[in-house]
Amino acid sequence: MVIIGAGECGARAALALRENGYQGTVTLIGTEQHLPYERPPLSKEAMVSDEHPLPRTIAGSEQFTEKQIDFIGSSTVVAIDRPAKGLILEDSSRVSYDRLLIATGALPRALPLASGSRHCVTLRSYDDALAIRARFRPGARVVIVGGGFIGLELAASARKRGASVTVIEAQPRIMMRGVPEEIAEVIAERHRQEGVVLQCGTGISSIEDTSGHVTIALANGEAIEADLAVIGIGAVPVTALAEAAGLDTANGIVVNAWLQTSDPDIFAAGDCCAFPLAIYGGRRVRLEAWRNAQEQGALAARNMLGAQEPHEAVPWFWSDQYELGLQVAGLADEAAHTIRRDLGNRAFILFHLAADGRLVAASGIGPGNAVAKDIRLAEMLIARSARPDPIQLAASDVKLKSLLAA
Ligand code: NAP
Repeated sequence: MVIIGAGECGARAALALRENGYQGTVTLIGTEQHLPYERPPLSKEAMVSDEHPLPRTIAGSEQFTEKQIDFIGSSTVVAIDRPAKGLILEDSSRVSYDRLLIATGALPRALPLASGSRHCVTLRSYDDALAIRARFRPGARVVIVGGGFIGLELAASARKRGASVTVIEAQPRIMMRGVPEEIAEVIAERHRQEGVVLQCGTGISSIEDTSGHVTIALANGEAIEADLAVIGIGAVPVTALAEAAGLDTANGIVVNAWLQTSDPDIFAAGDCCAFPLAIYGGRRVRLEAWRNAQEQGALAARNMLGAQEPHEAVPWFWSDQYELGLQVAGLADEAAHTIRRDLGNRAFILFHLAADGRLVAASGIGPGNAVAKDIRLAEMLIARSARPDPIQLAASDVKLKSLLAA
């Protein structure tokens, strides 16, 4: 069993192969030198901790040794030789497989205008995080390009470290795609309270380095000087190896419900794969989310061992900015209308219903973990394709648990 990609998904798959009793060889290959680590802290805790942050590893080297997982770090797979069932590594060595999992993840989308600048960076890896952290100094002028999850979490972290922050978002508002407007507005207001300048609905016309800083000219004629610009304009799935090997791809590596590619001995999981979601009528999606990577890694492992178990989990992600916790379960773009439930203490949940009354998503925001329990219950309702009564959904004195029982 060979896994390409030692991120959350690949590491979970390697561990799950052993948890499911597999006794043959397990090889996990990754490009980074570090043992597999968690990425969520990179834009949050790792940016603001007083102490130098260490990678939060998913499993230590003793665990890999004990479980006889062969971790090959600092290594790039350059080709999949399907007829010979082998991989070719950068140093020309070969690794053969019976079953292969591609868990190559996604990489930051490049902004061509920023390509020549020494002051424009992206965040994906622990090493990227250290480099950014070192430049989030008190008084530093930071520009964030992209008002998505990376951009906004970094904006909050940069403010905590005393930098001044401007966020430039091409869309008319922040988090246009992933989060409903009512929730985006709460987050936008919180950033403004902290002194973050949000510039939405404007493109960038040029980016130029000049004597120790970068000047970003906006399409509206304004120019912003910064000591550092972080580009967070989305991620692209890493599919080149799969494409070169002749596997089907379309916004990700195309897999069936049990994460098998067009080659039955090759599976793909996590950010790099596009899979059908049964609860949304088999609609093909690609999710860039931590829990999805975990769940699909473990599922791919079981299916590599022959389980043929479909992926049925409800999509879910969270974001923490300042004291606010945001959570979204399901796919909100399937919704025809929305019901609001207030939870007190400025927390609320939006329930997104399809035209036929099915609950298809729920988004919530509040201090800390205020929305966690109700989002979890909403997730169960979504998984059951429940059609809850909208009046009861809105009534905060009606427990969601009772709707689940009904
Ligand atoms: P993202 O959430 O897709 O946000 C990117 C934002 O930048 C979008 O609003 C996008 O608008 C905008 N944008 C695109 N091109 C632009 C341009 N030229 N100028 C200004 N704005 C532009 O992606 P991300 O924040 O870069 O995150 C990257 C990856 O990290 C994703 O996989 C994400 O899921 C992951 N991540 C997740 C979390 C979390 O779940 N809490 C936290 C951090 C990172 P369009 O929609 O129009 O493209």
